[in-house]
Amino acid sequence: MTKKKTRIGIIICERYHSCAGGKCFRALRERRGAFRRYPADADIEIAGYCSCGGCPGVNIEYAPEEMIKNGVEVIHLATGLIVGYPPCPRLEYFQRYIETRYGIPVVAGTHPVPEKYFQVHKQLGTWKSKKWEKILQEVIETPEIRKAYD
Ligand code: SF4
Repeated sequence: MTKKKTRIGIIICERYHSCAGGKCFRALRERRGAFRRYPADADIEIAGYCSCGGCPGVNIEYAPEEMIKNGVEVIHLATGLIVGYPPCPRLEYFQRYIETRYGIPVVAGTHPVPEKYFQVHKQLGTWKSKKWEKILQEVIETPEIRKAYD
């Protein structure tokens, strides 16, 4: 029996607009970070990849529509929205908006938080709240893995 393919879309923060997606693609392959949710043998395809378009997220309104037309069933907001300086203040709104408007799940995060960002945000106290603790669950990995994503 042919395995069902799951198509996912990734939206990155415009601050990292020139990023070629290496960490995200690798993390999907290695099932790290927010991609741990997919079984190792699941057939996952990245069928959409774009930036938010810049603050306040000018692509968020319609980019999901194009992704869904291309078969996307889950959208990931890239880890850059979580680790940027500052993290994206609209992340939760984007999640709620896309889920409400388009009816597909939106996951906060892609690849593991890199160790260098982890250390600085720890010193800054950026993530000291229930809200961030919940978001980070998907993308925090061991120090060894975080270093491997520096
Ligand atoms: S901080 Fe948020 S809204 Fe601004 S560019 Fe990054 S993802 Fe887009």
